Amino acid sequence: MNSKNVMELVKIMKQTYPDATCSLDFTTPFELVVAVMLSAQCTDERVNRTTPSLFKRCKTVQDFADIDLKELENLIHPCGFYKNKAKNIKLCAKQVLENFNGIVPHTMEELTSLAGVGRKSANVIMLEVFGIAEGVAVDTHAKRISNLIGLSSKKEPEKIEQDLIKIFPKKYLQDINHLFVWHGRNTCIARKPKCDVCCVSHLCAHYKNNKKI
Ligand code: SF4
Repeated sequence: MNSKNVMELVKIMKQTYPDATCSLDFTTPFELVVAVMLSAQCTDERVNRTTPSLFKRCKTVQDFADIDLKELENLIHPCGFYKNKAKNIKLCAKQVLENFNGIVPHTMEELTSLAGVGRKSANVIMLEVFGIAEGVAVDTHAKRISNLIGLSSKKEPEKIEQDLIKIFPKKYLQDINHLFVWHGRNTCIARKPKCDVCCVSHLCAHYKNNKKI
C-alpha cells in the first residue's frame, strides 16, 4: 500500500471510529497489566465484568503478590485459563515488587521480562499507561485485518507487527492499535466481514479480489 493510501486508511478509520480507545477498565498501571493478562482468550467485556471484585480485593501490587492462589483462581475463574493466569499474576506482582520497586516498568524489554507479559501485552501497556506507541499489539483483529487488507501476508503476530511498523509512520501507531480492534469488532468481523458497508473496502485487497475490481 502506498503512503497516500495508508494516510487515507487511517483518516477514514478515525472518522468512522472516533471513540476508538482501549476497552479494558483499569485505574492503575498494574490493574491494566492484570486486565491484559485476563483478556487472553477472553473478551474485554467479560474481563470488565470480572475485574471490579478482583480490584476491590487486591488494591495494590503487594495485594496481588500476597493473595492466596486458590482465592485468586476463584476470582478470575470466568476469564478462562484461570490456573495459569492466576499463577502468572502472582509471579508478575512479585517481580514488579522485587525487580522494579513496585512500579510497572515502561520499556518493551522490562515489560516482557514479567511473567505472563508477551510483546502484544507489553505494547498495550506501553500505549495505554505511558502513551508510548512503539509497535502494534497484533491481536486476532489486527492479524485478520492486516491479512485481508493486504498490509501483511504473514501469519505470525511478530512478523505482522514488523510489516505494520514499516508501513505506518510512527505517529499513526497509536491510532492503529485502537482502530484495528474497533474495525474488527464492528465491521471486519471474523465469521462474516461486512464488506458491503466497510469504510475502507476500496483500499482492501480481499474486497478487490472478490469483486474482481
Ligand atoms: S472490505 Fe471486508 S475484508 Fe476488507 S477490511 Fe472491509 S470488512 Fe474487512
